[in-house]
Amino acid sequence: MLTCPWSCVVWDLDGTLLERGSPTPVDGVEAVLAAWSEAGVEMAVATSASTALARRVVDELGWSAWFSHVAGTGPGVVGKDEVLVEALLGLGRVLPDGAVGAAMIGDAPADVAAARRHGLTAVGVTWSGTPADVLGGADLIWSSPPS
Ligand SMILES: [Mg+2]
Repeated sequence: MLTCPWSCVVWDLDGTLLERGSPTPVDGVEAVLAAWSEAGVEMAVATSASTALARRVVDELGWSAWFSHVAGTGPGVVGKDEVLVEALLGLGRVLPDGAVGAAMIGDAPADVAAARRHGLTAVGVTWSGTPADVLGGADLIWSSPPS
C-alpha cells in the first residue's frame, strides 16, 4: 500500500507533513517518507515558510536524508507557485517536462493550484482540517496518510 505512484513528490510542510502550526509530524507520514525514499522516489519540500526555517525544521526532525531539496520563500521567491518551481529545480527538474511523473501533496488551495498550474498531479490532504470542497481542483483527496 505504501507503493508510490509517482517518481517525484513535492510535499508541503505545515498542515501536511506537520500538524498545523506545530513542529509535530502528522501520524503516519514518517512511514510514508521512509518507504518512498527507500523506493527511490525523489522528494522535496515546498513551503511558504522561509527556506532557512524550513531547512532547520527538516534537519531537527532528522528528515534531511529523505529530501533532496527543501525549498521555501526568500528573496525573489514568493508564493507557493514560485516555491514549487524552486523545489523542482532543486531536484534537477525543469518545467514543463519536469512535471512528468511528479505530484504535489498539500493541505491548502494554493498547493493544489500550484500543482495544477505547473502540470503536476495535485493531491489535497484534509487531515489538518481543510474541507475537501476547498481543495476541489485536486486530482486526489487524501483524508489520512497512505498506509
Ligand atoms: Mg500547508
